Amino acid sequence: MKKTIKTIKVDADKCNGCRACEVICSAYHAEPRYSSVNPAKSRIQVITHRLQDIWLPVFAGEYTPAECMGRDKYIIDGKEYDECSFCRAAFPSRGMFKDPDSGLPLKCDMCETDPPLSQPKCVEACLNNVLIYQEREEEVEEEVAQDEIQTGLEALVDKHGFQKVIDAFALMANRS
Ligand code: SF4
Ligand code: SF4
Repeated sequence: MKKTIKTIKVDADKCNGCRACEVICSAYHAEPRYSSVNPAKSRIQVITHRLQDIWLPVFAGEYTPAECMGRDKYIIDGKEYDECSFCRAAFPSRGMFKDPDSGLPLKCDMCETDPPLSQPKCVEACLNNVLIYQEREEEVEEEVAQDEIQTGLEALVDKHGFQKVIDAFALMANRS
């Protein structure tokens, strides 16, 4: 089956650390939508090392129960990035990419909603064109389709809460 693959390319050299992406992401995912702003709840976080002129937006990926064992350094254009800079994972001892209230892991859902947005909110908010949204069609296995369903369900739960989604399924089951 065909699937639309959505990606956001990061042109890190253009980032000035304004954190507008964090602000809009947290507001868009607030419950109700736009009811609050808290960058600590954002699914994109800007890694900052001011003295090295490093501003690097990183998207929240999967939660992993395994602790990090990596100790790598990256030197790019003379700037030294520490081992965690590019990491998208939330894991037990890492505070990043976890909801500060519930402690639950946060994951970028590409702002999936119905009807879909023309582009994710962080891309729209970044006036420096650091975040570049791209779509492409790809042939995928059924397993990937399953992932897509899960991401869609997670977005619905984020938006409406777990109980409302369960109630909607119960209603649909009764009608069929
Ligand atoms: S909105 Fe753009 S320039 Fe500002 S911190 Fe985010 S990625 Fe960087
Ligand atoms: S794509 Fe949406 S969910 Fe992901 S970081 Fe950007 S605003 Fe947040």
